[in-house]
Amino acid sequence: MTFFQTIKDNDKNYVLQTYTRQDVCLVKGYGSWVEDINGKKYIDFFPGWAVSGIGHCHKKVVSNIEEQLKKIMHVSNNYYNELQPVLAETIIKNSFPGKVFFANSGAEANEGAIKLARKYGSSSGRHEIITMEKSFHGRTLATLTATGQDKVKIGFSPLVEGFKHIPFNDIESFKKAITSKTIAVMLEPIQGEGGVNSADLDYLKIVARICEEKDILLILDEVQTGMGRTGKMFAYEHFGITPSAMTLAKSLGGGFPIGALVVAKKYEDILIPGSHASTFGGSPIAAAAALGVFSAIHEEKLLDNAVNMGEYLIKKLEGIKKNNFRVKKIKGKALMIGVELDIDDGSKVVNECVREGLLINCTQKNILRVMPPLTVNKEEIDLASEKLSKALERVS
Ligand SMILES: *Cc1c(COP(=O)(O)O)cnc(C)c1O
Repeated sequence: MTFFQTIKDNDKNYVLQTYTRQDVCLVKGYGSWVEDINGKKYIDFFPGWAVSGIGHCHKKVVSNIEEQLKKIMHVSNNYYNELQPVLAETIIKNSFPGKVFFANSGAEANEGAIKLARKYGSSSGRHEIITMEKSFHGRTLATLTATGQDKVKIGFSPLVEGFKHIPFNDIESFKKAITSKTIAVMLEPIQGEGGVNSADLDYLKIVARICEEKDILLILDEVQTGMGRTGKMFAYEHFGITPSAMTLAKSLGGGFPIGALVVAKKYEDILIPGSHASTFGGSPIAAAAALGVFSAIHEEKLLDNAVNMGEYLIKKLEGIKKNNFRVKKIKGKALMIGVELDIDDGSKVVNECVREGLLINCTQKNILRVMPPLTVNKEEIDLASEKLSKALERVS
C-alpha cells in the first residue's frame, strides 16, 4: 500500500465526502508551480481555486506570517491587534472611503453584507435583495439562497426569505424587480462559477445610478474578481462606479483564510457593537498575510503584469481556438479567463490537462477556467498553452 493510498483511504473513511477530488495529492507549491506526493510537477493555472492569487507560497506572504507567528497567533476582537487596523487602512486606501469588517471566508463576508443591507432596511421596512441568475455567493443558508443556481439549494428548504433572482445584464428585469421592499442588489462584476460572464459596462453603470436614486445598496461580490485578478485591484474600477459595499476573500490572504466586508462611508455606522462579530475575523496572522499580498502587488507591479500576461494568454488561446473546432469562445478580463467549449463534459479536458501536468478548472459543464497567478510569466504561459492544446486534441 502506498502512502498516497493510505491518505485516500483515510479521506474516504473519515472526511465527509462533499468534494469530487482529482486523483492527486499536492504537497508543495511555489509561484505558478505545484508538486504532488509522487514528485510530479504541475503548472497551476487555477491556484487554490484563485486563493493563491499571487502564486503559491509567495515570499512576502510567508515571511509576514513567519514574523507574526513568533509574536502572537490569535488575538480576540475584545482587544486591539497591531495589524488589523493597518490592513483595514490598506484596503480602504486601495478602494473607496469607508470601513472594513473582517471575516474568514467569502460566504461569511457575504453574510455580513446581507446583514448590513437588512439592518439598513429595517428602519424603512425594506428587506428584499436582488441577485443574478448564475451567480455564486457561497454555501451558508443566506448565501446559497442568494446564489442564482438551483443545484446548490436542493434539499435545504426552507430557504432564507427575501431574495429575488433576475437575468444578468438585463436592465429591464432589474427595473421590474425593484419594489418598495427592495434594499439591495448583490452581484459579481464578473461571474466566476457562473462561467466567467462579465457585466456590461452600461449595465453596471445604470444599475449603480438606479441604486443611488432609490437608496438601494449596491453590493459587489469581489471574492473572486478582487485583488488584481482583472488587471485592476478591484473589478468595479473598470466600470467607473463605486459600490455601497464590497466583499473580498479568496486571494486576499495569498493562501491564508481571510474574508472582508468593505462598507462605504454612508453605511459605516449600521453594524455596531453587538450586531455582528466573528471570533477568528482579522487575526494578526491573517492580517499579516493579506498585507504581504498588497505589498507584493504594489512592489512587483503585478497589476501591470496581469494586464500584459492576460493579453498574451488570450492571444495564445485564440491561437488554440483557430486549430481546434471544440473551442468556441475566449472570454474574460486580464487573468480571469473562460474558454467556452463545444462539448458537454469539459471535465474530460481538465483530466487530460492533469495528465499533461497542468491544473485548470471547468465550470458550468463546458467553460474552462484559466486563472494563473498574477506573477505568471511568458514561459509558463507558453508551456501551459502547449499542454492545454494537447489535452484538447486528445478529447476532440
Ligand atoms: C468562492 C466564492 C464565494 C464563496 O467563498 P467561500 O470562501 O468558499 O465561502 C463567494 N462569492 C464568490 C464570487 C466566489 O467566487
